[in-house]
Amino acid sequence: MRASTYPLVEVDEAAALVLERTPVLGIERVALAHCIGRVLAEDLVATASLPVFPSSAVDGYAVRSADAGKPLRILGESAAGRPFDGAISAGTAARILTGGVVPDGADCVVMVEEVQVAGDVVTTPPGLRPGTNFHVPGADVRAGEKVVTAGTQLGAAELGLAAALGFPRLPVRRRPRVALLSTGDELVEVGEKPGRGQIVDSNRWALLAALREAGAEVHSLGIGPDEPDALRKLVVDALREVDVLVTSGGVSVGTHDLIKPLLESLGSVHVGRVKLKPGKPFTFATIPLEGGKERLAFGLPGFPVSSLVTFEVFVRPALRKMQGFDSLQRPTLPVRLGYDARASADRTEYQRVTLHREGRDLVAATTGSQSSSRLMSLAGAHALVRIPPGDQGIMAGSIVDALILSLP
Ligand code: AMP
Ligand code: MG
Repeated sequence: MRASTYPLVEVDEAAALVLERTPVLGIERVALAHCIGRVLAEDLVATASLPVFPSSAVDGYAVRSADAGKPLRILGESAAGRPFDGAISAGTAARILTGGVVPDGADCVVMVEEVQVAGDVVTTPPGLRPGTNFHVPGADVRAGEKVVTAGTQLGAAELGLAAALGFPRLPVRRRPRVALLSTGDELVEVGEKPGRGQIVDSNRWALLAALREAGAEVHSLGIGPDEPDALRKLVVDALREVDVLVTSGGVSVGTHDLIKPLLESLGSVHVGRVKLKPGKPFTFATIPLEGGKERLAFGLPGFPVSSLVTFEVFVRPALRKMQGFDSLQRPTLPVRLGYDARASADRTEYQRVTLHREGRDLVAATTGSQSSSRLMSLAGAHALVRIPPGDQGIMAGSIVDALILSLP
């Protein structure tokens, strides 16, 4: 064992250091079908107004409001996609269906329920107001208007808008390509029976899910041994193909912990230890490439909860920055502690909690033992509450910040 020489960095300082070195990725034009969840790279500006034509909101009759209460001769029909070509003059009307073009001359639509029809004559009620029951051009979107801002994640409504405005593809940021490696001689593949002293590699599956949820394209490198040369070859080969390397294990100070020296030999380690619980040995490095660019490398601790908490705090915001997201962080809300929280003397602790409502407050209940090996503390957790360091701990009833993972 050797003592770590890396300074202990504050959590926020380490997170800022990561983001400072994180580039925003390039733009690609992607068909709408593949845009769901992607981040728009350029403001989407309407090239046309919506609706394009005055469009009936109901089934009924297109008339002049000045003809209210009079019997009107029905000249024809305007259905969706089959407009009536004539114009409405005094004493006439056109049958109209929802989505039909309101013919020239008409200034309102009367609902079918409100009229009397006899043969080709329709009688409207008195007191019609112009502009009733149809959508005027530009009412939904005006030509030239910004409809979706760059940095927005594209969802159903945004994609519907893009299609309505005639964009079959959209400029989005490239997804980060991430190589994912579990390290440790004790690890076996899921489905294999672990021998004595062996454990199943669970971090790779947990991190694969976390990476995908954060928008990354993952190249799984499998399990790497605690052997410097083999590890080096795996990492060097992988770095040719990806933007980011994420490893788990091998970052503490045991003699088999090889990731820090490996990253040190390939580039620069900017963060080697953080005042964070769980996740003190979190490591962040950059690896230079030809052309002045760099790859990011995250050495996450091996304990399952430590790897996922450091992912949340450091990796996810970086992946979001790469994709051009407006907001890099999970939402933070003040919550009331429903339990006495012990604090770490010198590290900010992210405790896993479930949330429930009491009146207007969100109240946090602990998920039980906060051991960094106990994934059960994170499974089903709604939030990570941030417990500042100190000797006293934080008493039940106090208000603390919670990083929201999902609301109940
Ligand atoms: P390390 O950081 O390599 O010293 O790992 C610390 C501990 O985390 C190990 O003793 C294992 O119990 C656990 N661990 C490491 N890697 C994994 C993994 N891929 N999946 C599950 N647990 C792991
Ligand atoms: Mg290890």
